[in-house]
Amino acid sequence: MARTEQLLRDAQGRIDIMALDRDALIAFVQEQAGGTPGDGVRVYKQLWRSEARDFLAMTDVRRTLREKLHTLAFVRRLAPDLRLESRDGTIKYLWRLEDGHTIESVLIPDGDRVTLCMSSQVGCAMACTFCLTGDMGLRRHLVASEIALQPLQVQADVGPDLRITNLVLMGMGEPLHNLPQLVPALTNCLDDHGLNFSHRKITVSTVGLVPKMAELAAALPVNLAVSLNATTEEQRRQIMPITRRHSMHELLEACRNFPLPSGKRITFEYVMFAGFNDSLDDAARLLTLLEGIPAKVNLIPYNDNPERDLRRPTEPVVRAFQDFLVRGGMSTSVRTTRGQDISAACGQLGKARQQVDAGLVAPAR
Ligand code: SF4
Repeated sequence: MARTEQLLRDAQGRIDIMALDRDALIAFVQEQAGGTPGDGVRVYKQLWRSEARDFLAMTDVRRTLREKLHTLAFVRRLAPDLRLESRDGTIKYLWRLEDGHTIESVLIPDGDRVTLCMSSQVGCAMACTFCLTGDMGLRRHLVASEIALQPLQVQADVGPDLRITNLVLMGMGEPLHNLPQLVPALTNCLDDHGLNFSHRKITVSTVGLVPKMAELAAALPVNLAVSLNATTEEQRRQIMPITRRHSMHELLEACRNFPLPSGKRITFEYVMFAGFNDSLDDAARLLTLLEGIPAKVNLIPYNDNPERDLRRPTEPVVRAFQDFLVRGGMSTSVRTTRGQDISAACGQLGKARQQVDAGLVAPAR
């Protein structure tokens, strides 16, 4: 697995400036390039607000400093490899990284809400049995720039008429497994001189890396989503191996103690599998498990996949489950499946290139 420090430099040893948050960039400009804090802010704004790709073209920065920065740092971009557009407007992007790995991001327009589902790792170590990304294992962590460039480059691709409103870290990877790179990446997404997203519009999802949850809360004021998917320890162990390391009980205790700002709730993602976790007994247990946690539940009927034995529950079963939760006082939504014709739905990321090559889906361009 490539070491993160190596990935943060190019072949000439120059540093990846898009991986620095604003404070780190200002310190770099001062300490390494002999600039002022004001120079640092100008460079930061050029990179994130004006999408500058070349220090030498930053005309509001003095020439000697531009030339110095050019010798010390480089401006990373993700290389677009595929762009698949669904009939329902969902767009899946496959990006090729400099070491040949690929990652995916999915743009989901839904009325006024335009959500970008982002990746945080190449593959994933969590091995949830229902997830295609989990089959890959962890190839490597993304560096901060590779995470934050996803919204920057998708926005540039779709143009100003389709503004991304929400970011969700629910693509490839377990974000809390890559917290050291996630934090500067999301800091740049939140920075008002950066991508300027509101903390209310960014959600980080976890399978339950319990010790990292408090670290996330201390570092960033973003929303938390927990991928729960079961109502007993045994059931969860069967589909989510992380449960062997951190039990569901431990996870829910961490949720109870999670320092939520007032008015915020934790979203519990619950992928529903026919005959496995979709009974009304499960619904009743779920209500009990979530007692005392400011919570909402997002039901996700599983997207059938020929590589898995798991099946999607019928519509009436999903409806009955939702009604039970709502009658129990739980705010509950059912996620509409989006982008199924381009394999962009939940749990389907990671195989775009193979699917196109096999003629299973067609690239938009
Ligand atoms: S569901 Fe998420 S955490 Fe689990 S294997 Fe897939 S990408 Fe990893």
